[in-house]
Amino acid sequence: MLRLHPYEYHRPTSLDDALALLSKFGQDAMPIAGGTDLVPNMKHGLFTPGHLVGLGAIGEMRGISASSDHIRIGACESLASVANNPKIRTTLPSLAQAAALISGPQLRRVGTIGGNICLDTRCTYYNQTRFWREALGYCLKKDGDACHVVKGGTRCVAAHSADTPPVLSVLDAVLEVMGDGGQREISIKQFFTSDGVWNRAIEPGDLIIAIRIPKPTHGTYVAFQKLRSRNAIDFPLANLAVRVEHDKNGCISNMRIVASAMGAYPREIGKLTETAVGSKLNSHTIDTLAEQVFRQCRPLDNITVDKEWRRAMLPVLLRRALTEIAVA
Ligand SMILES: Cc1cc2nc3c(=O)[nH]c(=O)nc-3n(C[C@H](O)[C@H](O)[C@H](O)COP(=O)(O)OP(=O)(O)OC[C@H]3O[C@@H](n4cnc5c(N)ncnc54)[C@H](O)[C@@H]3O)c2cc1C
Ligand code: SF4
Repeated sequence: MLRLHPYEYHRPTSLDDALALLSKFGQDAMPIAGGTDLVPNMKHGLFTPGHLVGLGAIGEMRGISASSDHIRIGACESLASVANNPKIRTTLPSLAQAAALISGPQLRRVGTIGGNICLDTRCTYYNQTRFWREALGYCLKKDGDACHVVKGGTRCVAAHSADTPPVLSVLDAVLEVMGDGGQREISIKQFFTSDGVWNRAIEPGDLIIAIRIPKPTHGTYVAFQKLRSRNAIDFPLANLAVRVEHDKNGCISNMRIVASAMGAYPREIGKLTETAVGSKLNSHTIDTLAEQVFRQCRPLDNITVDKEWRRAMLPVLLRRALTEIAVA
């Protein structure tokens, strides 16, 4: 049986109290929302905070609202409420779809969108019991000094494995963050770093309060695709979000593709302006873009499933996403 270490659980009912607790206990405290990622990680001894600050009773981190130009989602809204919310399903259907494809119904009812954005990176050599990791001499991300994925590597390349960030990224979402330094906003594009040990541009005591997403303009389509072993429960082996904007002649005026579950952060595919802008979304454009995604993406051996197969599936995911947009 995997046991939890002793810790003290705090349940503040206001944002100010939560921030005060996180500040008071510093490095020995962590926020916890649904706990669907943090609790298994604590059972594996990957995090051992002496204090957990529960976010579930904080009203300021709840609610889904719409204004004329954006949707605002409280960070503690569950994945199920994001997936089922009528405003999100109508205005941002790809986000609802990404949330609906995460794990299974029980975990979606408890897991939150804030926790999904802050999901710890995952790796075959890391998401294991302490006993398992000890037998291998641990690794750079936790307790050791070598990486088993990149031999001789000096940087952790564990996989960013969350499903909503690629969609939030092509939707240009902005995160409202609060911490010791007060309130600030971070574009989701700037949120992830290449350091698999801690791939977030916030400190452990900072909180994401809400996510603000601009409403897509007329002629903009977003699609999401996920590769996984089974059509339930499983983390992504690769995922991908695409945004296509059309001009009044039906030609592509702007395009973004963000793929993830390969390295430590979601990857923006480059040079799309040259390939796609000014063209129609036809089979030739789709073929060219599929080839481009294959060339630019190189999944690593950080997940048990074959990296060459995951790479070969990325153009397939892109074709599915673009075909969905082409017939919309
Ligand atoms: C069997 C299983 C399958 C899963 N499948 C998937 C999957 O397919 N796709 C996927 O994306 N995820 C998957 N998950 C992971 C997880 O369930 C979700 O990512 C979920 O959204 C995490 O949210 P949470 O509220 O439970 O996070 P928690 O576990 O509470 O927290 C996760 C991390 O985020 C931090 N945190 C939480 N909220 C905030 C906040 N507001 N501000 C700052 N930091 C915060 C915590 O300190 C912690 O470090 C799976 C988990 C399990 C156990
Ligand atoms: S990528 Fe390397 S350092 Fe990072 S968790 Fe995996 S084995 Fe450890």
